[in-house]
Amino acid sequence: MIKFDKLGPEKILEVYDPKSGMKGILVIDSTARGPGKGGIRMTPTVSKEEVAKLARVMTWKNSLADLPFGGAKSGILANAKEISLEKKEKLVKAFSKALKSLCPDSYIAAPDMNMAEREMEWFVQTNGDKKSCTGKPTSLGGLPHELGSTGIGVGHATLVALKYLDLDPKSITFAVEGFGNVGTFASKFLTGKGAKLVAVSDSQGCIYLKSGLDYKKLMQVKKETGSVINYENAQKQNNITHVQAEVLITAAIPDVIKKSDIDKLKFKLIVEGSNIPMAEELEETLHQKGILIIPDMIANAGGVISSYVEHINGTEQKMFKLVEEKITKNTALILKLAKEKNISPRKAAIELAEERILKAKKANTR
Ligand code: NAD
Repeated sequence: MIKFDKLGPEKILEVYDPKSGMKGILVIDSTARGPGKGGIRMTPTVSKEEVAKLARVMTWKNSLADLPFGGAKSGILANAKEISLEKKEKLVKAFSKALKSLCPDSYIAAPDMNMAEREMEWFVQTNGDKKSCTGKPTSLGGLPHELGSTGIGVGHATLVALKYLDLDPKSITFAVEGFGNVGTFASKFLTGKGAKLVAVSDSQGCIYLKSGLDYKKLMQVKKETGSVINYENAQKQNNITHVQAEVLITAAIPDVIKKSDIDKLKFKLIVEGSNIPMAEELEETLHQKGILIIPDMIANAGGVISSYVEHINGTEQKMFKLVEEKITKNTALILKLAKEKNISPRKAAIELAEERILKAKKANTR
């Protein structure tokens, strides 16, 4: 069941094109602060409820990053792994056509699961306005994913949290769950600040090395053998969340931390690079136990900040500058509010996001 409250959702749209067979969903949760911004996912099971939930997270994330965007999300029902490229192009173009009257004034699209630059190019070709989406190829003014905005932002959030805990980056150890786009850039950033990377995982397993893993060597091992687990002399571990390190950066799957892990966690700080790495109740329990958690909607906002810079035709340099400024400022602000109110950083983040949205609604600027 979709929940309606003081924020939204403002619009729920189901679209169908009999010619291509395209079935799609768009949920615009809020446009109080600007056009609803959020990615398109293509999966065989995407539902209105799922899209609505993700659209709300985008409303919060964009508000917290203080961007002139509301929140939205959309989905196309199809199995991207089974359909041909020609079929995929037809579906994306039919979806873009169906949303044309709303994009970009009320909705700005972006890639999500099974969508990337090529799909955004199709979206723009049909819409006719480059502002209808972000995540475009560089030839259309896109800022590539490979610049690492999200992972670098995770690194900045970690530095602020370490300072809050009175820990020196040069004397801490950290573990990274997932060694893809977010995990590699966060690892590079933090090892560059002198922190010691002692554990890493990917889809094939987890490794630990007390004396520290070399970032460049890890990249090489991953490239040459397909997995970090082949790093020489490192010990194989069953679970990255049980390793001995001061900091955990999550950068892979949802729900990596489960109830049964709680008593085995030794981290002082968890920075959520991935989305929903644990249930909200678990986050609250860990907060009560004194583990500091920087929530996903603050820590991994580098991607949406980069989208905003692309939207205003900004440069790579502007993107890096804004990611650093915004993530540093927002992480510090949330930690301050959480301390003052004696609540978890996630609760403080949601309170602040809602306050800003309701203020924008009241001012009725749109
Ligand atoms: P990616 O596909 O580049 O990398 C994912 C990594 O996770 C890979 O190294 C893969 O081997 C590893 N992995 C898969 N299953 C695993 C498992 N069971 N245990 C450990 N590792 C596993 O993805 P990404 O872009 O780095 O995104 C990672 C997470 O961050 C996702 O949850 C994504 O939604 C979230 N996120 C990404 C961005 C972004 O801009 N890239 C922005 C916000 C949130």
